Amino acid sequence: MTDTTSPTLTGAFSDAELRDIRADFAILGTVVNGAPLVYLDSGATSQKPRQVLDAERYFYEHDNAAVHRGAHTLAALATESFEDARAVVARFVGAADDEIVWTSNATEGINLVAYAISNASLGRGGDDALRIGPGDEIVVTEMEHHANLIPWQELAARTGATLRFIPILDDGSLDLDRLDSIVTERTRVLAFTHVSNVLGIVNPVDVLVARARAVGAVTVLDACQSAPHLTLDLKALGVDFAVFSGHKMLGPTGIGVLYGRSELLNALPPFLTGGSMITTVTMESAQYLPAPQRFEAGTQRVSQTVGLAAAVRYLETVGMHRIAEHEAALGERLVAGLAALPGVTVLGQAAGLHRVGLASFDLAGVHSHDVGQFLDDRGIAVRVGHHCAQPLHRRFGVTSTTRASAYLYSTADEIDQVVDGVRDAATFFG
Ligand code: PLP
Repeated sequence: MTDTTSPTLTGAFSDAELRDIRADFAILGTVVNGAPLVYLDSGATSQKPRQVLDAERYFYEHDNAAVHRGAHTLAALATESFEDARAVVARFVGAADDEIVWTSNATEGINLVAYAISNASLGRGGDDALRIGPGDEIVVTEMEHHANLIPWQELAARTGATLRFIPILDDGSLDLDRLDSIVTERTRVLAFTHVSNVLGIVNPVDVLVARARAVGAVTVLDACQSAPHLTLDLKALGVDFAVFSGHKMLGPTGIGVLYGRSELLNALPPFLTGGSMITTVTMESAQYLPAPQRFEAGTQRVSQTVGLAAAVRYLETVGMHRIAEHEAALGERLVAGLAALPGVTVLGQAAGLHRVGLASFDLAGVHSHDVGQFLDDRGIAVRVGHHCAQPLHRRFGVTSTTRASAYLYSTADEIDQVVDGVRDAATFFG
């Protein structure tokens, strides 16, 4: 990793660095439909380096046991791996160890918070300050992934609270002129995405958190599309809760992270109940452990935490600031290339806003599934459809788009291939 001058493959990494990174991902050598795989669907799930696969295999071959139980040596080794992984992830996002709760994915983390709040609202424990009911409001944004929308719709329905949303402007940015009239003294929860999985634009967390604090609302950050791509310091951002998924950041599936400020986590009643999260149980009732254990009922996913810690170490070794730079360069190249094509509309092109290496577009008169199929014939993997964001697509007057999303292992040449492919698709279907 010495040559830092060559711009051939990308802006931020040298060709040699990028070749080294790509060599860690065996799957990138796959041939699809006779062509070398061009994987531009990392927004859906990332590929995994051998370091992550090796860590999981090592765990199963040497340390496997159930954690926090049993007096035997393997149980102690497994528990150590599990808690070490928590510490690695905590450090990665600027949190304390006991502020990291393991979940199966981000979706479960958001549901956990929403159900814990409704349990508090039903009088099932927790702090009175976290109760919500009729007259209270929950606020989201119009650009949310369904995972950060439907759990709040359901919470509103269970408690009688009202769900409101911050609209977006034509350029894809949030309509912040409406912020003060939508986030008010009635707002109890403000849940929003850090980076839209459709637009790729980074939202102004500081502005949203400042407004939520001014009115005493709890903030929930969907960091699914930021944790893999940007340096994330949750304490500095000042959010109360945050979620992200391991599989989008080089880690395995089946592991997600819920961050919560310690005092808030301990002020919430549990969501799932059962073994491993209690102190005392009688036939009538149970007492619960403090966070994070109170939210980790049942036998835990341990190899996945070990794999995620290996993924985080990998990202740290490459350097999150360099990954962000690399992806910003690819993102700009992608948007510029696509936007210059006749008939192509890229969703959300707010000028001057930081973006990750992701863009979604509509090709006039051609269904996204046809675009996706055309690209797949050339070995190019993109995502098509509504990307779990139907309201956002409706806002832009489309039902589906094609999304290309890059990661640290993506190259400028791959970006050019997808742009060329879309140009050819326009001609083919036109
Ligand atoms: N939020 C955003 C912005 C996402 O991109 C995704 C996944 O696509 C999710 C939430 C849900 O993540 P998961 O399906 O891993 O729970």
